[in-house]
Formats: sequence, structure tokens, C-alpha cells
Amino acid sequence: MKYSIALVRGDGIGPEVIGQAVRVLDAAGGIFGHAFTYEEVLAGGCAIDRTGAALPPGAVETCRAADAVLLGAVGGWKWDSLPGGQRPETALLGLRKGLGLFANIRPALLFDALAGACPLRPELTAGGLDIVVVRELTGGIYFGEKGTRQTEDMGLLAYDVEQYSEEEVRRIGRVAFDMARKRGKKLTSVDKANVLESSRLWRRVVTELAADYPDVVLSHLYVDNAAMQLVRAPRQFDVIVTGNLFGDILSDEASMITGSIGMLPSASLAQGNFGMYEPVHGSAPDIAGQDKANPMAAVLSAAMMLRYTFDLRAEADAIEAAVKAVLDAGYRTPDIFTDGMKCIGTAETGSRIIERIRKP
Ligand code: NAD
Repeated sequence: MKYSIALVRGDGIGPEVIGQAVRVLDAAGGIFGHAFTYEEVLAGGCAIDRTGAALPPGAVETCRAADAVLLGAVGGWKWDSLPGGQRPETALLGLRKGLGLFANIRPALLFDALAGACPLRPELTAGGLDIVVVRELTGGIYFGEKGTRQTEDMGLLAYDVEQYSEEEVRRIGRVAFDMARKRGKKLTSVDKANVLESSRLWRRVVTELAADYPDVVLSHLYVDNAAMQLVRAPRQFDVIVTGNLFGDILSDEASMITGSIGMLPSASLAQGNFGMYEPVHGSAPDIAGQDKANPMAAVLSAAMMLRYTFDLRAEADAIEAAVKAVLDAGYRTPDIFTDGMKCIGTAETGSRIIERIRKP
């Protein structure tokens, strides 16, 4: 089979980690008999430098024409002084909106070999952590009405509107219930229904959906409590579903309790099988170009792409097992290095993963 992938390498360490993800994909393709073709898409700071726009005309269309998108990271110090609407990160919002990517899936998985990197006390994570945060990605406060106006007595006033429609909540709710059904059958919906009208609607719609999923246990948490519970008793969670703003924060919190941001993949899904896959981390300008970046998040993002968009589950399993085997063998990039381990760079990590990919 042939699969076409739009590659957005982006800025900073983006090209380095995507380079390794592509090597791993090609190696897995060779072993399992698939061909992956790549279409390069310019977006982010590099696109600003070359074209003047973070998301040049045609970029969304090229991505849409592919089966899936694999993205590194965008942004960096070089573009930090640009006004908000012109910064590289606007490319991400444009891609999410333009591609209809409404569901962000972030697994927070604590690998046994990295248990020591978890900042929580060992008794809180004994038995491992395996949480998925499902975040609504194209609605809420990030896309609501926003603006500033001069007031007579309080100076400049700025506002951002949080809003959700029933249909938006239902759509993301279904993704989360479906995911919970395939996993531990527990779904926690997070909102701020004690204060926000939009959250009261969120809670009502999610509760109504539960009738279609009698096998999934649904509970609700206020976002402040959820943030606390994630560090107090993280093993209580299976799937968490929440809106755009709360999800942005909680998914970062959930990822940090697994030790390193360099390990965490993510998927942003549209209706159907189309998705954009990217590591959770940013462009890490402090280590860019030094062969220090951990490519595992990008490689695991590629594995998620095989699983969710291409339905190549054995291939995804093989890549994930190879990553685990590299960790078990004691190889570490500097971000996850501890005494007694073997410190290796970005490219060698890719090679070590490739040599461990096995067909079951
Ligand atoms: P960051 O994730 O880039 O870096 C935070 C820290 O983690 C840094 O010390 C970095 O060296 C380290 N780190 C990140 N990824 C790593 C990896 N794979 N291996 C080893 N170490 C890694 O976050 P930041 O510093 O807040 O942001 C830097 C730039 O990236 C900013 O311009 C920001 O807007 C952008 N950003 C982009 C995305 C994206 O493209 N999806 C996401 C977050 C931040």
C-alpha cells in the first residue's frame, strides 16, 4: 500500500526530530511492505523568512490532499518580537482550523525504564501511568470573539469569549467516549460548571451522551480539582475530556508527570481518518542543531499516525516496542539521561530504534 504524508518540519529541532521519524517510517515500511511518500510543507518561522507568512497560501490545501500530516514544531526566539497575529505559532491555529482538526489526543504514558524521571513520589505511580487527554481543539476561548477597547476609567480593556455549542461538545464527547470504550472504560469530563455557563452546557451534553455508552463510567471534575488530582492520585484517570483552554493546561500537566516532554506524541483528528500528528514539545531553540533533541516524541507521533489514520496497528505496535526496547537497553538522549545510562544523540536514537523494529 502507498500512503501520502504532508511533512511540516518547521523550526528549531522540528527538522531534526522529523528527520528521524521519517527514517523510522521508511524502515518500518520496508519491513512491512508499505511505501510512504512525503510532500514538504513550509509553515512557521521558516515560512515567514521565505514567504512573509507563517502559513503560506496553498499550505493547508497540500496538507488536505495528503492522507495525514506529520509536524515537527514551529516558533523560536528569532520571531518572538513579531506581533501576535504574525507569529509562527499562528500556523498551528491555521492548520487546525483549516483541516478541521477538532480533537487533540495526548497519551501520557510513563515508560517503566523512565519511572525515575517522574517527578511524583514512586508510590503515586506504582503500577504505571497510562492516561489519554482528549482536548477540544477548534472552539472555546481560543477561537471566540476577542478584542480590546479603551474605557473611560480603567484604561485599555481586553476580552476573549469562551463559547461552546451543543454540537461541538457532542462531537468531541463522542471521540472521548469511543476512546474510553477501547481502553479502561473510564471517562472524566473536566469543566468549570460551578462558574461558567459554557461549562454547564458542556456538562449537560456529555451527561446526555453517556446514555449511548452504558459500558463507560463517566465522572465530572471541576478543572481546579482535576489539576490537583493529576498530581495527587494520577492513577485514577483513564481518559480525560475537556475544552480547549483547560485541555491545553491539563495535557501539559499530564505529560510532565511522565518525566520528559521529549517523549510525548500527540494526534489532532478531523472527522473520518484524517489527522495531524506532532510531538507535544516545541521547537526547543536552546538545543536546536546540536544533535541533542530527543526524537522519540516525533517517532511515537508517527506511530500514532499509523494506528489512527492508516489503521496499521501491527506497524504502530512494532515502532512503539522498538522505542521501549531502546530505553530498556539504556540508551538516553540528554533530556532523559541518568547516571549509568548511555548518552546518545538525535540521529543515533533514530538508528537504535530502526535496528529494533521487528515484524511480529
Ligand atoms: P519547548 O518544548 O520548545 O522547550 C521546553 C524545554 O524542553 C527546553 O529546555 C527544551 O530544550 C526542552 N525540550 C523540548 N523538546 C525536547 C526534545 N525533543 N528533546 C530534548 N529536550 C526538549 O517549549 P518552549 O521553550 O516554551 O518553546 C520554544 C518555542 O516553541 C516557542 O517559540 C514556542 O512558541 C514554540 N512551541 C511550539 C509548539 C508547536 O509547534 N506545537 C509547541 C510548544 C511551543
